[in-house]
Amino acid sequence: MQIKSNVLDRQFYMYQSEYEDAALRVLRSGWYVLGNEVKQFEEEFASYTGRKYCVGLNSGLDALTMSVRALGIGRGDEVIVQANTYIATVLGVTENGATPVFVEPDEYFNIDADKIEAAITNRTKAIMIVHLYGQAGNMKKAVETAQKYNLPIIEDCAQSHGACFNGKMTGAFGISGCFSFYPTKNLGAFGDAGAIVTDDEEFADKIRMMRNYGSKVRYYNEIEGVNSRLDELQAALLRVKLSHIDELNDERKRLAQNYNAGIKNSKLKLPQIREGADSVFHQYVVLCENREEFQAFLEKHGIQTQIHYPVPPHLAECYKHLGHKKGDFPITESYADRVVSLPIYTGMTEAEQDYVIDKINMF
Ligand SMILES: *Cc1c(COP(=O)(O)O)cnc(C)c1O
Repeated sequence: MQIKSNVLDRQFYMYQSEYEDAALRVLRSGWYVLGNEVKQFEEEFASYTGRKYCVGLNSGLDALTMSVRALGIGRGDEVIVQANTYIATVLGVTENGATPVFVEPDEYFNIDADKIEAAITNRTKAIMIVHLYGQAGNMKKAVETAQKYNLPIIEDCAQSHGACFNGKMTGAFGISGCFSFYPTKNLGAFGDAGAIVTDDEEFADKIRMMRNYGSKVRYYNEIEGVNSRLDELQAALLRVKLSHIDELNDERKRLAQNYNAGIKNSKLKLPQIREGADSVFHQYVVLCENREEFQAFLEKHGIQTQIHYPVPPHLAECYKHLGHKKGDFPITESYADRVVSLPIYTGMTEAEQDYVIDKINMF
């Protein structure tokens, strides 16, 4: 059997006619960028996350970069961010000329919230929290620390659509919840898309202006903006998927439970769930000491796995100039050496998953 780590068309065929109707509605409408579909999606997604405002953008990276910029953070400023994240989180900081200050993760792969305080200096301007792999970070401690130092929280929710901490949606804790709708994400579009959610009207207005060349009224440019507009096609398709997001997330949770129950192999450490948090299992990540051997064994049986992520940002070629070296963040580096993401995608069949579990237990 051949098992890919992700199969994207499965979730299209689940709701095929709804997607096709939505796409045709846009194609026939004569309006293709920032229109009624975007407006409707923004209202629906704000309501889903429990926030007042949503602004649709081009990508998750734009959501992060523009949030940092809208807070006036730039050269000479520091932003705290977990060391074991995807490069985009850090680019959101450095694209503005600001400096990322890395903090080690906890046993749930989120920022170790107990270590945030020690990283705060008089240059710190924001704390970024990444709800990595679909599980909420320790928002109780993170929010306490942020309030104590009067710092804004920016949440990277690119992997956590629908994940909660103590019943509150990720994206609803900070000034800005940054989402990516890249096709592989839990709420994935059929192309690039992103958004921010917020309760702050002024912040939402600023992002809305910024996304369309810095103008509210066309050709009257109040701020130096960018082009980060969401198109009608993606918005219409996202509205369809959003109406099914709970089913889709429940399916991922069910697949994760099957892995939890079925995998019996002392060479692997299975993912843990934080008290008060639930995971929407964007990834199902296990730790394995002899990872290369494990991956090769599964590969031999036709099973694809992935590594999220092999090189932590502080050791990335592009961030050499930050001056970090191997050994600076040992927990992060040890995760980078041991993490393996097992195949998990909506539409994965029982037979496919049983096959994966069977082979994992043979390793
Ligand atoms: C995907 C992702 C992003 C970037 O989103 P894009 O839409 O690809 O720009 C940012 N942060 C994390 C954690 C991600 O997984």
